[in-house]
Amino acid sequence: MKTSILAVGTELLFGQTVNTNAAFLSENLNHMGFDVMYHFVVGDNPARLKAKLAEAFSDTDLVILTGGLGPTQDDLTKEIVAEYMGRGLYRDDEVVEQLKGFFEKRGHHMAENNMKQAYLPEGCTPFYNASGTAPGFALNVDGKTAICLPGPPREMKWLWDNGVKEYLSHFMGKKMFYRIIHTIGIGESDLETVLMPVIDGQTDPTVATYAKEGECNLRVASQRDTLEEAEAAVDEMVKRVDELVGDYIYSYDDENLNEVVVRLLKQKGLKITSAESCTSGLFPAAITDVAGASEVLSSAYITYSNESKIKELGVPAELIDKYGVVSSQVAEAMAAGAKARSGADIAVSVTGYAGPDADPGHSAGEAYIGYAMGDETGFYAVNTSRNDRKWNRRYITLRMLRAVYLLIR
Ligand code: ATP
Ligand code: MG
Repeated sequence: MKTSILAVGTELLFGQTVNTNAAFLSENLNHMGFDVMYHFVVGDNPARLKAKLAEAFSDTDLVILTGGLGPTQDDLTKEIVAEYMGRGLYRDDEVVEQLKGFFEKRGHHMAENNMKQAYLPEGCTPFYNASGTAPGFALNVDGKTAICLPGPPREMKWLWDNGVKEYLSHFMGKKMFYRIIHTIGIGESDLETVLMPVIDGQTDPTVATYAKEGECNLRVASQRDTLEEAEAAVDEMVKRVDELVGDYIYSYDDENLNEVVVRLLKQKGLKITSAESCTSGLFPAAITDVAGASEVLSSAYITYSNESKIKELGVPAELIDKYGVVSSQVAEAMAAGAKARSGADIAVSVTGYAGPDADPGHSAGEAYIGYAMGDETGFYAVNTSRNDRKWNRRYITLRMLRAVYLLIR
């Protein structure tokens, strides 16, 4: 189904707010099998909003609008959509009750203009909003459907999960099933080249690659008469993909690397520690981003200076003198020291240049990741060839996660 997204809000045109709603909706609509043809952005101006709505409906049957559903004067999306589609507004009792409850619970007085949010277009399907005050709704008139959602991304996503997705699933004659596969360690173009035999000329299931900060994801999707058929077709294709690039795959279920690492550590009953210099804290932060991290994270050392590497981790000073602080030898010694001092089962370490500067003879983005598990120690050399500090720190953290993943998978 041909679909447009129309984001409303002058702040989007000023560049103060990034239009993340459009990205979220596009991604999710595409996953469901909708063809998103246009993104429109318009300010809080009734005439221009109406014009863009007309333009969107001239070529697409479904228009999803976000923003401008609130209680203030400049919030006019609902009024314009109702007018455009020839519907009046009614006062929805459920919204009235919800609004009263919302303000009572917070001990706030409800301003009169809030009641504006209780009005919805006649004949619409309301999406009641338990995460805020403005309800969303779908309005279907003569085969054209407008869905209006509040602007705050948190509320928009909540309504997507609690009503909109279910509502839209009835639109599709065919059922869509997809899997998102995550890979690391192979670039997008190499991945595409290796997968060419299964990508080329394929209409269903489709296999698409997309790069994601240091990683590359694959989306395998099928649209069939039943969900079971679509799922079977996807799984058959996933098998073929697995035969070609299985070594690089770390998730078949859209999990992130930190989630996979925490899950595996839990399953195996292992505790981890880290010793970092250039990423300083990003590794334990990635682990603690996942619920249940306390079961697997023992401790984390941030040893930025040479002295701290010697004092906190027991790295021999001679090793630093001999090989330099950014070296595989020091990385391994950091991991071994962290493991011994913490009593954890696994230690991962890093020493490197985040950039933009590096010592003579070295370059920004050069790093060594050490690991220790049981009696085994080892290292990976990383060179990002970038002098983008932020990017390097994040990418090197991913590589630390990958080092752990390869140890325990
Ligand atoms: P409210 O009840 O908060 O007024 P609303 O539906 O009227 O909700 P807006 O006033 O348009 O929404 O936007 C509220 C806030 O939501 C904006 O300040 C902005 O931070 C955020 N927002 C709006 N539109 C978008 C968008 N397309 N992408 C990301 N954030 C957005
Ligand atoms: Mg508003």
